[in-house]
Amino acid sequence: MKIGWIGSGNMGIPMAGNLLAAGHELSVWNRTPEKAEPLIALGAKGASTIAQLVDEADILFTMVSDDAAVKEIYTGPDGILATPGRGKLAIDMSTVSPDTSRFLAEHCQQAGFRFLDAPVSGSVGPAKEGTLVIMVGGDKDAYEEAKPLLDKLGKVALHLGPNGAGTSAKLAINLLLGITVQGVSETLLFARSLGISTEQMLNIISESAVGTPLIRGKAASLLADNYPAAFALKHMAKDLRLAREAGVSTPLAESAGASYRHALEEGLGDLDLMAIIKHLEGN
Ligand code: NAP
Repeated sequence: MKIGWIGSGNMGIPMAGNLLAAGHELSVWNRTPEKAEPLIALGAKGASTIAQLVDEADILFTMVSDDAAVKEIYTGPDGILATPGRGKLAIDMSTVSPDTSRFLAEHCQQAGFRFLDAPVSGSVGPAKEGTLVIMVGGDKDAYEEAKPLLDKLGKVALHLGPNGAGTSAKLAINLLLGITVQGVSETLLFARSLGISTEQMLNIISESAVGTPLIRGKAASLLADNYPAAFALKHMAKDLRLAREAGVSTPLAESAGASYRHALEEGLGDLDLMAIIKHLEGN
């Protein structure tokens, strides 16, 4: 089965890399072609256009930034749907709104493609290890067909319902992520202002009931006060905005969302989401 992969950002590179490592034939297209080079070095074929990629692939994956990016990649004049679908399966793993997933599903169907929304929970580490949590929306048979590949990317791939169910679940889990990272930051800054160091407080959190792999994973960054992006803060701000747009009452997420939005305005968007602590420090 020939795989066509679109998007070689922080997540796309390790995810597509796992499919290559599992022995699959994979072609890649990325808007900025140089950023696909690490995959080409691993044996991927570089496609010069999306049309070429779609034409040669049996199954397609997209892993890009946001709603505008996926809409352009699927429905733009040079997008996926400009090439006849012939029943091919397209799987969008980006975090976008459930409305966008349903929009893409409908347009895919009209162009002869089948479509699954399959966003992921877990950052660059789990992406490298193939231990992501994958939340799938769409036709059950299409899910069964994709599952052997999804199992190379994640430790679980859960079918949750029709198109939009995967992205709905993803917004829910990231709501908790956004609140948690804001909460950890506030806790560390609160402790520091009362004379407890970040190192001491991280040890306490780690030994306590609220210690999680997430917080342990961010400890080195926090101690070095250095936040290279694994999950960029701009994407967290986007996810909390999408959650807000769902119109459900979520007071803590509303407040965290405003905080990430302000951090974005301060120019922290390309750093890791943990850099929210830099924004809070300045307030
Ligand atoms: P990233 O490193 O910022 O990469 C974004 C990718 O999208 C790049 O390949 C970029 O191409 C492409 N892109 C952006 N706008 C585009 C457009 N208009 N047309 C074509 N391509 C476009 O993002 P990431 O961290 O890999 O995240 C990808 C998705 O996964 C996001 O939806 C994010 O919310 C989600 N996610 C991320 C993580 C994480 O920890 N990083 C975890 C779970 C889910 P260029 O190279 O040309 O810029």
